[in-house]
Order: sequence, then C-alpha cells, then structure tokens
Amino acid sequence: MQELSCTSCGNRVLVDKYSPTHTSIQWLTDAEKSCPRFAAQVEAGVRSMWIPTCPALRESIDRAAGNGALRTDALRSEPIPGRLG
Ligand SMILES: [Zn+2]
Repeated sequence: MQELSCTSCGNRVLVDKYSPTHTSIQWLTDAEKSCPRFAAQVEAGVRSMWIPTCPALRESIDRAAGNGALRTDALRSEPIPGRLG
C-alpha cells in the first residue's frame, strides 16, 4: 500500500490501486474526525460505514494514479497473455 493524503483535508490514508476501477483505501485515522466531508455526512445522520469515501480524496487518488505518483499493480497481478518470459 502507498501513503497518500487528501488534497482537500490533508487526511492521510493508505491506498492500493489495482486498476482504474478497483481502489482500496485504508484510513490511518478516524475518518469522522479527520475528514470534514465525512464529519458533515455523519452529522447529517449518515453512518460512516455507508460513506464510500471522501470525494476529494477519491480525486486525489485518481490524480496521483494519472501522473504516476501512485503505482497501479495491475500488470503484476494480472499477467498479460503473449508476454510470457
Ligand atoms: Zn477529505
């Protein structure tokens, strides 16, 4: 996993990105306390376990993956046919 921080709230998380559609995020801190966007939703009555992730954080991850700052492990975990050896 790689460490990344949300460009909006500065919250630090660990990210694993296997493909453009698969991203797993591990919070290093209590999301409800460290992310204003989470806090706002929880305050509005949404349980934090139902909040997929902070939209700003998702954007940060996409940007990092786009500019190469975040490695995607797709090539390692999914061998490409015809490129053996
Ligand atoms: Zn955030």
